Amino acid sequence: MKRIEPIELFQKNGHEPLIIAGPCSAESETQVMDTARSLADSGVRIFRAGVWKPRTKPGCFEGVGAPGLEWLRKVRDTYGMAVATEVANAHHVEEVMKAGIDIIWIGARTVANPFAVQEIAESLKGTDKAVMVKNPVNPDLDLWIGAIERLEKCGIRRMAAIHRGFSTYGEKVYRNAPQWQIPIELRRLIPELPILCDPSHMGGKRNLVISLSQQAMDFNADGLFIEVHNDPCHALSDAAQQLSPEEFRELQSMLVTRTRTSHQDDSLSQYREQIDDCDRRFIGILKERLMIADDIGRFKKEHNMAILQSDRYKQIIEALVAEGIRSGIDPECIRSIFESIHIESIRRQMKVREKNGDCRSNI
Ligand code: PEP
Ligand code: MN
Repeated sequence: MKRIEPIELFQKNGHEPLIIAGPCSAESETQVMDTARSLADSGVRIFRAGVWKPRTKPGCFEGVGAPGLEWLRKVRDTYGMAVATEVANAHHVEEVMKAGIDIIWIGARTVANPFAVQEIAESLKGTDKAVMVKNPVNPDLDLWIGAIERLEKCGIRRMAAIHRGFSTYGEKVYRNAPQWQIPIELRRLIPELPILCDPSHMGGKRNLVISLSQQAMDFNADGLFIEVHNDPCHALSDAAQQLSPEEFRELQSMLVTRTRTSHQDDSLSQYREQIDDCDRRFIGILKERLMIADDIGRFKKEHNMAILQSDRYKQIIEALVAEGIRSGIDPECIRSIFESIHIESIRRQMKVREKNGDCRSNI
């Protein structure tokens, strides 16, 4: 993955987040041009609009198709903005290449389908097109990285990822749950890849977009990919989540970007040393605990006792959860840590039996 390059249009201006904005769908030339004018006035340099729209149900507005690409070209010629649209198959790629669109993105539903991604990647061979890859609808980091790899293998170098949240059955607050740990892990695995956040598809509602954008800044996202429409209430797709140009300006004025100064870096490294020290002590205590578990394993074996004593395990967890609550630690956190430790203790106790030639498992 070392060969991925950030899209040069994404060069950030100091600590300012990169912003890509525009309507969910290009609906008419007037709607596209009016929205683009407001955004250009607000300093946005990259305009987005979908012309092929993947909709959940048939019968909804599915985009104006290739003629909409001409309106995007007009945005570029009139306002000097770079323009971006979504592709979902090789035919779309052919059309965007003909129209000279600057950046394409692959949508969440398409990224979830390796055949479709492969087809797009192959149709992009030799084009050097800038590509943004949304996360797949399901929370599967490997599938997301797999799409990036398919593009990379076909010679695409200029890439960015878009985190738009993950679909979960029964989720009430968000249209797509953020699950921030997934883009954080993506950043750890491919640090050179810019990650933008799409708070519009994440929230699904206008009133969530500002707070999600701020959370994205707090998680160090490189930028935002936001739906803005000149008349959101009458939008033909995603009406509930698009911002008006005024709401977008409000967002711009409210966003706090996390700047770093060298003085702050010094304090941060002190905190990090303290964290590292805590982690080292934690490992020491864990080692001590596991060695006691080994002794218990030998004792149980000598006294022909079952390894798993469920009542004792239940009592331990209940006591630890109560202790955790007193210390302000979330019960789920306590449960998941001690469950892992317990699994490891059991594994070691079984090993003690195997070593002594007793393969009976009482679990
Ligand atoms: C979009 O950005 O308009 C879109 C369809 O998004 P997603 O693929 O994230 O649903
Ligand atoms: Mn949309």
